[in-house]
Amino acid sequence: MHEIVVRLEQVRERIRQAEREFGRPADSVRLLAVSKTRAADEIRVCAAAGQVAFGENYLQEALEKIEELRDLALEWHFIGRLQGNKTRPVAENFAWVHGIERLKHAERLSQQRPDRLPPLQVCLQVKIDPEDSKGGLDPTETAELISAVGELPRLQLRGLMTLPAPSAAGERQRRPFRLLRELRDRLASPELPLDTLSMGMSGDLEAAIAEGATLVRVGTALFGPRN
Ligand SMILES: *Cc1c(COP(=O)(O)O)cnc(C)c1O
Repeated sequence: MHEIVVRLEQVRERIRQAEREFGRPADSVRLLAVSKTRAADEIRVCAAAGQVAFGENYLQEALEKIEELRDLALEWHFIGRLQGNKTRPVAENFAWVHGIERLKHAERLSQQRPDRLPPLQVCLQVKIDPEDSKGGLDPTETAELISAVGELPRLQLRGLMTLPAPSAAGERQRRPFRLLRELRDRLASPELPLDTLSMGMSGDLEAAIAEGATLVRVGTALFGPRN
């Protein structure tokens, strides 16, 4: 068996185990395979083993792989930093965008989303820890952006995403994920249920699942260390 397939099975088992351990329903957590820097052939191996959703950070690299893998019915998620002048290829080639933090970007994506495609599924990225070097909205700005993005016709606002700085296991690891879930619980409404919590990666997916992740973004544990 290919080593990627072995690792895919291990990651699926980690997810199932965490669902059981933390009282989450079976199959309530989706796996997003983060394939940045990996070759199209490696994605093919993973896809042949049943993986459908793939996440990419770098637009040019992603577009080449999307083109090369057109023959497969894959679901592409953009998880990198959006640039205002490069929203069109994102709107035209991806099913999901996880890192929205500016209304301007959301408006462009909505305008540029082709009518032949279903609405673009989006999450707002929140910076839970102010010390965090990675981007995201301040939690206090989130409510306002939720209502504005919720109005855009060609986007479907699915929930919140966070990318905390790596930290040791245990309570420290769970804290940012719990804060994101609590923020979601406060801001969800019948019109905008925010059913998605995109949080947890190779090193902390159990902590994220314990706190309610519905989608974990996993690269290294699937494909091995990045060069
Ligand atoms: C690279 C990346 C991941 C995957 O990280 P691993 O530690 O390799 O699992 C998840 N989310 C985002 C936004 C990333 O950039």
